[in-house]
Amino acid sequence: MPEIKPELLRGDITKLDVDAVVNAANSGLMGGGGVDGAIHRAAGPALLAECMEIARAAGNRAEACPAGEAVVTGAGNLPCKKVIHTVGPVWRGGAYGEAGLLASCYRKSLLLAQREGLASIAFPNISTGVYGYPKNKAAETAVLSVMKTLAETPGITRVIFVCFDEENLSIYRKLLAAV
Ligand code: ADP
Repeated sequence: MPEIKPELLRGDITKLDVDAVVNAANSGLMGGGGVDGAIHRAAGPALLAECMEIARAAGNRAEACPAGEAVVTGAGNLPCKKVIHTVGPVWRGGAYGEAGLLASCYRKSLLLAQREGLASIAFPNISTGVYGYPKNKAAETAVLSVMKTLAETPGITRVIFVCFDEENLSIYRKLLAAV
């Protein structure tokens, strides 16, 4: 199996022409602020319509996608092919299973991309915005979970961590240098 070295990019994830862009969504899948808002704005109403359909099918609009889970939709007007919506945990001090849930976001997104035949995938720094997850801890969990899961996803040939802020960028730069 070829070794994959995750790439690092600073910028706006909505601009990326990859197979799958991962969205840090909320459980209701109704759009929100941060990267979620940016993705929905750039994708246009088709994305929200698909999310609403998933929420309806889940029969429970508040928890259409629980923390740690991932669902896939088309990408509307975005240059990517699909959007994978995953729901990060809200940071509550670290004793409420946050690390396991965050690892699950990265893992389930990769497994879903593999199932969908999507070879390149870009992740934002899930939970490190309004959900308050400490950036250092989140990055360690993200990189570890991705590296572990890649062993099970031979169809995935390109992984990009997209950092919006300088602090995340420098944290990831250090971590990925050691991978
Ligand atoms: P969460 O609710 O999971 O914390 P946020 O969207 O508030 O989600 O933040 C997650 C991360 O996404 C933050 O590090 C934020 O800086 C980053 N972010 C915000 N907008 C974009 C964007 N357009 N592209 C990439 N990352 C973004």
